[in-house]
Amino acid sequence: MRIGDYEIEIIVQGYPGKSVCHGGLGWSTLTLIRGKGRIAVVDTGPFGYRTMIREGLAKHGLKPADVTDLLLTHCHHDHSVNWMMFQNARIYIGAAEMAWATKLEWGVNSVPELYVAELAKWSKCQLVGDGEAIWPDLKTYLAPGHTPGCLIFVLEGAEHDLIFTGDSAKNRAELVSRDTDMTFDKKVSAASIDMIWSHWRKKPGTIVLPGHDRPMVLKDGKPTYLGKLEAAVKSWTGDDMETTTTFNLVV
Ligand SMILES: [Zn+2]
Repeated sequence: MRIGDYEIEIIVQGYPGKSVCHGGLGWSTLTLIRGKGRIAVVDTGPFGYRTMIREGLAKHGLKPADVTDLLLTHCHHDHSVNWMMFQNARIYIGAAEMAWATKLEWGVNSVPELYVAELAKWSKCQLVGDGEAIWPDLKTYLAPGHTPGCLIFVLEGAEHDLIFTGDSAKNRAELVSRDTDMTFDKKVSAASIDMIWSHWRKKPGTIVLPGHDRPMVLKDGKPTYLGKLEAAVKSWTGDDMETTTTFNLVV
């Protein structure tokens, strides 16, 4: 994908679902933005992504140390916990998000408390607010509901924009229905999704990339996926390491 002077690559494609018996999967979307001298990553994925992050960047001749900007939509572990892989990057996260996440009681939320505490002290951590321009063509907006300080990022191109919705709208179902799973207030989430739609409709061809789904564009007013989704689980189902069954998670 290309937005203005920026080349966009999805390093790990998020998955719109959760496990039936083991809680959240945490399979979030992780994206690389390159252009105008910047190498930026949007969200970090959970611990299980570390090898994929290194391999995904290496495909483009990059290492985590080359990343200049890390944009975090919110503090949940599956979006933030690998921030220390990017020690040379300026790290942007919502001021309201950090104010909330650093005061949480330990062990009750999917915020990685100690990683967030370290991030709050990190000299390259930059707190941002609603309507701020992180770069001249990258704006951030407060989109609460999933967490109190969730941000969306809007990368503006001359022809169309790219909107990173994080978990303010985790997937297509939430975008279309305005109903949400895992929110502290469904009405607050619905208002945030309405705000996303108002940005989405501004320029034809604008792409929305949710925190746990594929990129989409509007065709005749309806969200239409770009790209293919791949997801599967491999299980050891026999008495040796060679006997496995692969469960395809894409319908
Ligand atoms: Zn989340």
